Amino acid sequence: MRDQYGREINYLRISLTDRCNLRCGYCLGSGPVRWLPEETLLTDGELCAVVSAAAELGISRLKLTGGEPLLRPGLPELVRRLYEIPGIEDITLTTNGLLLPEQAEKLAEAGVSGVNISLDTLNRASYAALTGTDGLERVLEGLDAALCAGFSHVKVNCVSGEGITDRNPAEVAELARTRQVWVRYIETMPLGQGKNYAPVARAALMKELEERYGPLTPVNERGNGPAVYYSVPDFAGLVGFISPCSAPFCDGCNRLRLTADGWVKPCLQYQGTVNLRELLRAGASGEMLKAALSAAIRSKPKGHRFAEDQAQTGLERRGMSAIGG
Ligand code: SAM
Repeated sequence: MRDQYGREINYLRISLTDRCNLRCGYCLGSGPVRWLPEETLLTDGELCAVVSAAAELGISRLKLTGGEPLLRPGLPELVRRLYEIPGIEDITLTTNGLLLPEQAEKLAEAGVSGVNISLDTLNRASYAALTGTDGLERVLEGLDAALCAGFSHVKVNCVSGEGITDRNPAEVAELARTRQVWVRYIETMPLGQGKNYAPVARAALMKELEERYGPLTPVNERGNGPAVYYSVPDFAGLVGFISPCSAPFCDGCNRLRLTADGWVKPCLQYQGTVNLRELLRAGASGEMLKAALSAAIRSKPKGHRFAEDQAQTGLERRGMSAIGG
């Protein structure tokens, strides 16, 4: 289905839980968190009902996210059920990687085609300071488990914000030198704790990478999303940039989001327009879900408003973990 600006909406990001086993400074932070009550999370059956309705409107690709999606019990079985829905062609997920060593193979067998692993530093102490967990070794094990499991692509997401830690984000590109992974740098967005960290623009990172590794050459690779990719001399993989602040890509945005508690969000930065959990639990039919989803697609805003006053009405108050990043 197309939205009012002619954009084809074919991609749904589904948050499976708001819970996370990390406390990244720019995301959940280290303060107290109020998790969603368990009973407000969409069940597997409810998720399948929503995805069936969405698929009838042209959604063909799903990204499973969170919180940390690997914390959701029975994830491989849920993936199998989602794949059985007519119209669903591709399911990928994004994870912090801590639970991948034991789950990568099962997820690949269930049909997950690709994984994004969030990793912001290769320095053990910086990782622990940033995330609140001494887990770098586990994530690197998870990365290798993902590479062995046979996903068609493994990407690393590195958030680049000023002063997140004393880490050097350019170092993370090292992973793409020796492995077939695509390392993508994502600018911090002013959501949740991310408001406290100004984004590091693409140009500054590119300069640093070029000084370290040699010229970056644009390549024509495209995934589901807005990343722009470059090859690097002697690298097995690629580096990429997702720059929602310095190079917004809203004109080509193809996505809708579903929060773990059932809100449909037509844009990351805007509040949800309708709660499908409430509709489902009041007995809504597939047609009613489709009508609610179509209305959400029609109301998709032209673009985000990261540059404006974040206190405006209608804008998202929750952080990335609750929204589903
Ligand atoms: N736990 C999973 C993971 O680590 O990929 C999925 C959820 S996490 C919220 C998804 C991505 O959002 C991660 O790569 C994280 O680094 C990123 N993220 C969180 N807050 C952000 C912010 N304010 N700006 C940009 N990216 C952010």
